[in-house]
Amino acid sequence: MTASRPEPRAHCPLCKSRKIKRGTFTDSQTIAGVRFTAEVPADVCGACGESFVWINDVGDFETAVARQLALRSVCVGEAFKYMRKTLSLRAVDLAELFGVTPETISHWENGKPDALAFTLLGSMVLEYIEGQESIRERLRALRNPVAPRTKPVRLTPISARSEVHPAKQLDVTAQPAKPKKRSRSAA
Ligand SMILES: [Zn+2]
Repeated sequence: MTASRPEPRAHCPLCKSRKIKRGTFTDSQTIAGVRFTAEVPADVCGACGESFVWINDVGDFETAVARQLALRSVCVGEAFKYMRKTLSLRAVDLAELFGVTPETISHWENGKPDALAFTLLGSMVLEYIEGQESIRERLRALRNPVAPRTKPVRLTPISARSEVHPAKQLDVTAQPAKPKKRSRSAA
């Protein structure tokens, strides 16, 4: 689960000022034509105004975006790829789990994914946020069958989870992305 938040930086990496305050930074990402925005925790420099986000918080935002893609069934290739990367799965590994070729994964990610595969991958993302990997384990078991157990299986109750993943607490808004403008820096 997520570690406790680190202490604010001692000084600003840019201007070296020590006037660092806790604040927020508006992070956003556009995936498949949907713009996702959330306020993520940040250290804000009182001198130069620059915001600094910890890498864990960036990861939590990306996981929150993947969660939204799964919940909203944004069934397009870009979203499929984003969810796969959130799970740190290589295309070749996902292909093995799903029993398809890596070319099929590539085909889905560059076009329209299979709806059932998308839903399954989305469920893996939602499960990952809950700190579980049962779908992945069951798919792995399907691909690598073992002899049935002869010993009795002992059932243990699932204890209530007390911690909630930050990706579920981040208030992410989603709206249609504005048409892409040409970058000013592009000459
Ligand atoms: Zn500064």
